[in-house]
Amino acid sequence: MILLITGPQASGKGTQAELLSAKLDLVHLSTGQVLREAIDADGSLGELIKGYVDKGALVPDSIIMMFLSTYLTPENLAKGIIFDGFPRIEPQLNLLEETLAEKKAKIDRVIFIDLSEQVVLDRLMGRLICDKCGANFNLKTLPPKEPGICDRCGGKLIRRSDEGSEAIKNRLKIYEQNTRPLFKIYKERGILEKLDGDRSIEVIFEDIIARLKKAGLVT
Ligand code: AMP
Repeated sequence: MILLITGPQASGKGTQAELLSAKLDLVHLSTGQVLREAIDADGSLGELIKGYVDKGALVPDSIIMMFLSTYLTPENLAKGIIFDGFPRIEPQLNLLEETLAEKKAKIDRVIFIDLSEQVVLDRLMGRLICDKCGANFNLKTLPPKEPGICDRCGGKLIRRSDEGSEAIKNRLKIYEQNTRPLFKIYKERGILEKLDGDRSIEVIFEDIIARLKKAGLVT
C-alpha cells in the first residue's frame, strides 16, 4: 500500500504517519526528517540543504529525488510506504508517479489532515523537537512527560531552526500556493481522504483507520 499524508504545518501529520507505520507495518518516509538528518550529518550537502530549510524554502527536486530513490527499493515497495511531507509541488507529484509506475506501483490513498490557519499558528508556537532523535512534541497537543526532555530518548527539546517567524511565513505560503492545489488532483482521482485535524490524536487516528478499511486497504 502506498499512502501520502499531507496537511499544513503542525497538523499532526508526522505523528499520524508514525502511528500508521507502526500499526500497518509501513515504511515511514518523512522528507523533512531525511533532510534534517542530512543537515546533522554535516558536509557540503548538509550545508546546502540547511540554506533552504532554515529559510522555509523548498529544497530542489534533484536533491529530494536523490534521497527518495534510495527508499524506493523493491523491499520497501512490497512492504508499503507512507510518504510524509512529499510531494509538496506538482513536479514532485509527477516524478513520484512516474517512478512508482516504472515499479508497477501507484498511490492508493492521500490522507489530508486539514486545519485552519489560526489553529496552525497557535500550534506552531508550542512545537518542540528532540535535538537527538528528532521526535516531535507540542506543548498544546502532545506535551512531553517531563518539561524540556524527550520521552523517547531523554534528549533535549528545542525549537526547530526553521520555526522563526519569517521561515514559518514562507512555509505557510508554499503550502497554500503549491501544496494545497494538489488536493484537487487527488480529489478528481477519488483517492483523497480529507479529515478535520482539530481533534485529538487518537480520534484522528481511528478516523484514518476506518477510512482505510472502508477503501478496502486495511482488514
Ligand atoms: P517538514 O518537516 O515536512 O515541515 O519539512 C521541513 C523543511 O524541509 C521544509 O520547510 C522544506 O525546506 C524541506 N522539505 C521537506 N520536504 C520537502 C519536499 N518534499 N520538497 C522540498 N523541500 C522539502
